[in-house]
Amino acid sequence: MLPYGRQQIDDDDIEAVVEVLRSDWLTTGPAVERFETALANSTGSVEAVAVSNGTAALHAAMSVLDLSPGDEVIVPAMTFAATANAVLYVGGRPVFADVCPNSLLVDPESIEYRISDRTRAIVAVDYAGQPCNYQRLRELADKYHLALIADACHSLGATYGNQPVGTLADMSCFSFHPVKPVTTGEGGAITTNDTAFAGRLRCFRSHGISSDFRQRARDGVHAYSMSELGYNYRMSDIHAALGFSQLGKLNTWTARRERIALKYDQLLAEVEKCEPLSRLSGRTNAWHLYVVRLASDVNRDDVFAELRRKGIGCNVHYLPVYRHPYYQEALGHPSGQCPEAEAAYQQILSLPIFPAMTEEDVEWVCHELAKCLVPSGIRAAA
Ligand SMILES: *Cc1c(COP(=O)(O)O)cnc(C)c1O
Repeated sequence: MLPYGRQQIDDDDIEAVVEVLRSDWLTTGPAVERFETALANSTGSVEAVAVSNGTAALHAAMSVLDLSPGDEVIVPAMTFAATANAVLYVGGRPVFADVCPNSLLVDPESIEYRISDRTRAIVAVDYAGQPCNYQRLRELADKYHLALIADACHSLGATYGNQPVGTLADMSCFSFHPVKPVTTGEGGAITTNDTAFAGRLRCFRSHGISSDFRQRARDGVHAYSMSELGYNYRMSDIHAALGFSQLGKLNTWTARRERIALKYDQLLAEVEKCEPLSRLSGRTNAWHLYVVRLASDVNRDDVFAELRRKGIGCNVHYLPVYRHPYYQEALGHPSGQCPEAEAAYQQILSLPIFPAMTEEDVEWVCHELAKCLVPSGIRAAA
C-alpha cells in the first residue's frame, strides 16, 4: 500500500537516538534544549517549548489564555478534532468558523461573523500545509482584542509574506507525529516570541512546577513548588534527539514535497472532475497533504474504495469537527453550521505525498484516479 504520508528515517536519525540511549539523560536533559533551540532558529521565533504531542501543545497554548468557563474560542470546522478538543480541555466553548471553498482555509469573514463578547481567541489551522490569511487574522485579533493561536501541525517549513510559520501568531503549535513534516514518533511544540508565555508553557508541561529535575540537580537543591495545575506533557530526550536530526532535513524535504505537488498539478490538469486546492499568493506551502476536490456528481467514497483496492492509501481530511457524535450528541452542536466545510467534506480526497515518493508513484496515482473518474474514456483509449 502506498500510504498518504510516511516518515523518513535515515541512519543518522537512528545514530542520534542511540547516542541518547547511551547517555545520562533520557528525559529533561540536554537533547530537549538542543531541539528547542533548533526549532526556534528554524522558525525564527524567540522561544520553542517541546511537549509530548501536538494535542498537548494545543492544550498548553489554551491553558496560557486563562479562559473563564463559557469563554469562546473560534476554530475552523475543517480540522482534526484535537484543535477544538483543546478548547474543551480548559473549559472553553469552541465556536466553528467556515472555510473558503477553494483553499479550505478558515474564512476570516466567517470568523468575524461569529465573534461575540465572550470570544477570547482565534485558532488558525494551516490546512494541508498552506498558511492562512494571517494579515487579515491579525487585523481581526487586534480589532477585537483576541489572542491569535496557530495550529501549525501541517505547516512547519511554510512561509507567509516571507515570514516562517511559527512567528505568525501569538503562539504556534506543532505536531511531530510520523505523518507530519518532521517526526519524533510522538511529539509536539509551541513557538512564541513572548518569553512570559514560554515560561508558563514550560511550567504547564511539567505538573505546574517551575523548575525541572536537571535545574535542581545543577543548583544542588531539593525543594520545588507547584504553583498551578499542570500535566506531565514533557518530551523525552530520546524523542528530541530524533527531532533534532530530522529538523536538519526539513528544507530538503519541503522542496521535495513541492516538486511532488507540482507533478500532481501538471498531471491532474488533464483530468476532468478533479480540482486541486488553490495555491494562494504571498506564501509557500509545506504540503503536509495534497488534497483534490472531486466534482459533485462523483461519488467520493467509490473513488476512495477503488483507489484503496488498487493499493493507493488515499484518505479524507476532515469530517467537520462538529459533525462528530461527541460534538453533536454530548455538546448539542447542530449540523449545517458551516455549509462550505460540509460540502467540501463530501468531495475531498487526500492523495499520497511524502518525501520518498517517486515521480512514478505520482504518475500511477494520477493514472488510477483518472480511470476512476472517466472509466469509459480510459477503456476506449486502452
Ligand atoms: C496532527 C494534528 C494535531 C494533533 O497532533 P498530535 O501530535 O497527533 O497530538 C492537531 N491538529 C492538527 C491540524 C493536526 O494535523
